Amino acid sequence: MSELAERIERVRARLADAAARAGRPVESVRLLAVSKTHPPAAVREAAACGLTDFGENKVQEAALKIPLAPGRLTWHLVGHLQSNKVRAAVRLFDYIHSVDSARLLRLVEEESRAQGRRPKVFLEVNVAGEASKFGLAPEAVGETLAAAQECRAAEVVGLMAIPPVVAEPERARGFFRRLRELRDELRGATGFALDELSMGMSHDAEIAVEEGATWVRIGTDIFGPRAAAWKPTADELGG
Ligand SMILES: *Cc1c(COP(=O)(O)O)cnc(C)c1O
Repeated sequence: MSELAERIERVRARLADAAARAGRPVESVRLLAVSKTHPPAAVREAAACGLTDFGENKVQEAALKIPLAPGRLTWHLVGHLQSNKVRAAVRLFDYIHSVDSARLLRLVEEESRAQGRRPKVFLEVNVAGEASKFGLAPEAVGETLAAAQECRAAEVVGLMAIPPVVAEPERARGFFRRLRELRDELRGATGFALDELSMGMSHDAEIAVEEGATWVRIGTDIFGPRAAAWKPTADELGG
């Protein structure tokens, strides 16, 4: 078994254990492989191990990488989305995890209609109220969902959070729980099901699963440490 295949096996085992502890079916937790900074060859190898969903944090890098990856994969944007990149993001991605304003949601909707695309969207929530982080304040998510009522092409499927990195993963639990509780409140108040919770990364995925994550975004524990940004080589571009 290759090193990558072994790492994927280990991640899957951790997620399965965490799901079992939480009394959740293992299929209710989806693995999103975050391939940012890694070359298309790594994506190809991971896809050969059965992974289907890949995440990127930069639209520009994804625009170069996706055409060099297998065609049948599902692509997720997990990084911040600037309004001048919405057109490209809608063209490239099936899921956008980082919508953090009603204005951005309307732009995604408009562009999706224009392109005949149906992206699934997460609203990103700044659960810890960190000044340095993107994301909606928890109390602003409701009004953004009001804007989502008008969406016909983009579909808001859930909430996403990137909680503060803490030395002890257990200390992230409260942030994950807050995202789930916010989801439960809004579900009752707005009529949106918000079934999906995008939360948990390499260091805290188990805790996120125990608190209800349906998508965990794993980079390092699948692909290894990140190098500088990936740029296509002449070889990768076909000579
Ligand atoms: C890079 C990234 C990840 C993956 O992080 P790891 O710690 O390497 O697993 C997950 N989510 C987002 C938003 C990221 O930017």
